[in-house]
Amino acid sequence: GSERARERGVAYYKPSKDSYSAERLTLVSELRQALELNQLTLYLQPKQCLKSGDITGFEALIRWPDRERQVPPHEVIELAEQTGLIKPLTRWVLREALEIREKLAVKGAPTRIAVNISPNNLREPDFPVFVQRMMQSYQCPAGELAFEVTETSMMQDPANSLKALKAINAAGIPLSIDDFGSGYSSLSYIKQLPASEIKIDRSLITELAEREEDRVIVRTTIEMCHSLGYTVVAEGVESEKTLKLLESMGCDLVQGYILARPQPFDRIIDWLADQPCRSRINAS
Ligand code: C2E
Ligand code: MG
Ligand code: MG
Ligand code: MG
Repeated sequence: GSERARERGVAYYKPSKDSYSAERLTLVSELRQALELNQLTLYLQPKQCLKSGDITGFEALIRWPDRERQVPPHEVIELAEQTGLIKPLTRWVLREALEIREKLAVKGAPTRIAVNISPNNLREPDFPVFVQRMMQSYQCPAGELAFEVTETSMMQDPANSLKALKAINAAGIPLSIDDFGSGYSSLSYIKQLPASEIKIDRSLITELAEREEDRVIVRTTIEMCHSLGYTVVAEGVESEKTLKLLESMGCDLVQGYILARPQPFDRIIDWLADQPCRSRINAS
């Protein structure tokens, strides 16, 4: 895809970057329509506890199947953020995630589900109330739905983001700091957030076995986060070697292709049934 193209130094024209192109306007209206017609979908990626081997839950990740190649997920989100579509999109994601949670429960699978939230959502005055209502109408127990927010995303409006996150957390929603170590983080700010989990960015994990500097950073980050009382997740674990290293460093949870790629609900149920450990369920 585009990542490989960038590595080769090839630049493709990206309609989503060019704010006023006719192509981009078409894309925006197609995205709006896809949302209204329920053509977007959520994939699930499991999180695994390194100590017990248990699958502790899933992260929900948006997919636009009709435009998968043209518009990867982070660009869907960028496009939505730039056009105000992020408000209805996130609300769709939340409803869908809560429905998936119920379907997981029916299958006897782990039910905890994490949703990614955009900083724009935290600026919607009625967002915390909306979230609270959704939790109630789906009778979702506290702690079963979690939010992921990136460290940098909140820095645009720290005071308001903090207020919104406190209200959301008070409604029974645990918070994760996503992509930790990928940007400029202010630990003094993060410390004020009602977060219980830190996710170390994929860029520090992917080459852990090859890069001594990354091992130093990740080991120290895990220690520091544990001292501050956070659960630590490593994202982007792609090899057995990396898995072993993270285990030796005391990392709590892992996510990555070595375990499972993000997949649709049905395939996740099949995958769980194939697991050798306690997280195994009977797919039927
Ligand atoms: P993220 O929240 O940091 O999600 C992790 C990304 O890493 C996902 O990309 C996932 O597919 C990918 N990934 C997981 N394991 C591996 C691995 O072992 N190797 C590699 N190379 N990649 C791995 P994805 O699904 O393309 O999503 C990209 C970003 O788009 C997400 O990053 C998140 O910031 C955003 N996003 C996705 N869905 C939503 C959504 O529903 N709402 C919002 N606001 N943002 C979303
Ligand atoms: Mg995430
Ligand atoms: Mg992440
Ligand atoms: Mg990331």
